[in-house]
Amino acid sequence: MLKIGILLGDDIGLEVVPEAIKVMQAAAARTGLAVEWLPLPIGRSGHETHGHTMPDVTVQTLKTVNGWLQGPIGHNAYPRHDPTWINPPLRKMFELFANVKPVRSYPNLASLHKDVDIVFLREVTEGMQSSSVVVAGSGEFRPNDEISIGTRVVTRRGASRVAREAFEIARTRVRKKVTSVHKEPVYRLVCGMFAEECRKMAIAYPDVELEEVLVDGFAMKLVMKPQQYDVVVTTNQFGDILTDEGAGLVGGLGLAPGLCVGERQAMAQATHGSAPDIAGKGIANPYAMIMSGKMLFEWLGRKRSSRQALEAAGLIDRAMDKVISEAKTLTADLGGSATTAQMGDAVAAAI
Ligand code: ATP
Repeated sequence: MLKIGILLGDDIGLEVVPEAIKVMQAAAARTGLAVEWLPLPIGRSGHETHGHTMPDVTVQTLKTVNGWLQGPIGHNAYPRHDPTWINPPLRKMFELFANVKPVRSYPNLASLHKDVDIVFLREVTEGMQSSSVVVAGSGEFRPNDEISIGTRVVTRRGASRVAREAFEIARTRVRKKVTSVHKEPVYRLVCGMFAEECRKMAIAYPDVELEEVLVDGFAMKLVMKPQQYDVVVTTNQFGDILTDEGAGLVGGLGLAPGLCVGERQAMAQATHGSAPDIAGKGIANPYAMIMSGKMLFEWLGRKRSSRQALEAAGLIDRAMDKVISEAKTLTADLGGSATTAQMGDAVAAAI
């Protein structure tokens, strides 16, 4: 029995997460996958019921689950400088070290390129992001008004575990290729260590090809010929930029799912924010949240050798393909006129 937490988040999270659960439950029912679903308070609703946007009951329960869905958090509207209104630091707290973001084009949806099918892995616990590399403080400092200094951290453990995840994912795909993106000739030690760990990992996966591309050239090639990439692994800040570039290639935020992966747990989280401008109208595109849930099933299936979870993920993939290619029940951002719930219903029905 799998235990999966449901964290709705704020704004459109209240609309798209239930659609993802609806679709996942339909797929689980078809394959006989047993799941215990645990709704947990987070964000504004957490504050209303428990006086905190990250209630202790949520943190304690998440320690016991295999994974969870996290809706977007409307943290931009939270009162500043009030410690009970925080953007829940779940990635850091649960050491979810890789953000996995697929970028995929569909023949009948507008995109800059066709036939794109890339999975990005961005390391998210170290690198240049100040919040990731320090326990307290900011990781940046200014010794005098003329100089500012930022730190960048790469560890063998951090590089090695994201590299392993990249090779594991590549192994499940047709092309079986990992592209390691760095800038070793300039950042000899930090990028050098990342590149070395990817090379070491490649030895354990002789069935997967390793390619190395320098980050600046990669940014250009990604725009010009994204079809040449399969699985791409990189450090935190490079990944931050390149994954947005990737999402832009195939139609933007509504089509950008994501999974934050740890050693023993994973969190399904779409790339988009809580979109307060469209919240409550029933027009948000549930694609990214549904496909994030699909990725959670896929990851759990792989980690736990669960045939049913892998099958459930495959069913969601095919149902989404069908709904998109028929183009009868798509939300407005995809050129249709369906509501969030109608699109979710259509995917669940296709399962
Ligand atoms: P945050 O800072 O919380 O990450 P953001 O500034 O990146 O948020 P979003 O909330 O992601 O912004 O919204 C950016 C734009 O994309 C908004 O106009 C929003 O309406 C639109 N958008 C975001 N997600 C969706 C979705 N699922 N369906 C349709 N439109 C969306």
